[in-house]
Amino acid sequence: MERIKVFIFCVFLLGSVLAAGHSASAHSQTGTVTGDRVNVRESPSLSASILGQVSTGKQVSILSSQNGWVQISYGSETAWVSGQFIRTGGKQPASASQFVRIQTEGTNLRSGPSTSSSVIVKGSVGERYPVIGRSGDWIKIRLASGSEAYVAGWVVSSKETAASALQGKVIVLDPGHGGVDGGTSGLYGTIEKGVTLQTAQKLRDALAASGATVVVTRTGDQYVPLPARTDTARQHGADAFISLHYDGAQSRQAAGHTAYYYHTAHKELARSLNEGLNKTLPNANRGTQYGDYYVLRENQRPAVLLELGYLTNPAEESSIASAAYQQQAAAGIRDGLASYFSR
Ligand SMILES: [Zn+2]
Repeated sequence: MERIKVFIFCVFLLGSVLAAGHSASAHSQTGTVTGDRVNVRESPSLSASILGQVSTGKQVSILSSQNGWVQISYGSETAWVSGQFIRTGGKQPASASQFVRIQTEGTNLRSGPSTSSSVIVKGSVGERYPVIGRSGDWIKIRLASGSEAYVAGWVVSSKETAASALQGKVIVLDPGHGGVDGGTSGLYGTIEKGVTLQTAQKLRDALAASGATVVVTRTGDQYVPLPARTDTARQHGADAFISLHYDGAQSRQAAGHTAYYYHTAHKELARSLNEGLNKTLPNANRGTQYGDYYVLRENQRPAVLLELGYLTNPAEESSIASAAYQQQAAAGIRDGLASYFSR
């Protein structure tokens, strides 16, 4: 009797060791994609080129991880995907709702919930931090060092707000101008059609990361007639159509961002986007205004035209040309949309 007990105990132990060894190796090598159309990128950054997309359930080989990004085998090459969309070894990924992801390079992580609190450290794009509390519009997070910090809720991707509100929404982005139609241009040579396209690409990534289905009216430097743009919104049954522009004026002093609507029913959408932008953009807020633009007037779907800053103002032109400014605009629009759909 005694002998049998010892024998069973030994078999049990051996089994445990084998199971532990097996799960440890599986955990370090494969992962399962948990998001739909997750972007696969050249390097661990939201601004890196997109090589392709992977969808829910796809198995990937994990090579390494860094700042919330996971390096995977992709065809014969290696590539990166956001770690929040990869589950490993049967373990849930760190629940998205308990993390915030840094969207803007150099985001201030502060000692208190106010822009006057001291900056402890600056966050980099793609980094994720556990959420441990909230204070007004501020999110309390834990740093890798173990200490606590605050980050402004409007500059991070908070899955609690953006993802739940934007999940499944169809957003049509319309980068203004293109091809022979350059739009306005700045003293330093920035052309509107180029910066609207760059901004749309950043916004598309931010929205897709929050679960929205994003359609763009143009992907390159081509001329797209206005009726084709509004048709795209109709064909896809857009929940929102957002035309992106940068402004021009005779006076170099003119500055700021404006949200335009045509139909009164769309004023609330314009107001939400303007509120979002007002929190992220550094320039003046010219508010929400009525505007008789074709893409608004002839649109059957909720439509807004955003003028995100003045290219004819040299100081604004320099900002506008930067990836940081465009990323801030993208974050503001995403948050504005999330807040609009949360109502
Ligand atoms: Zn324009």
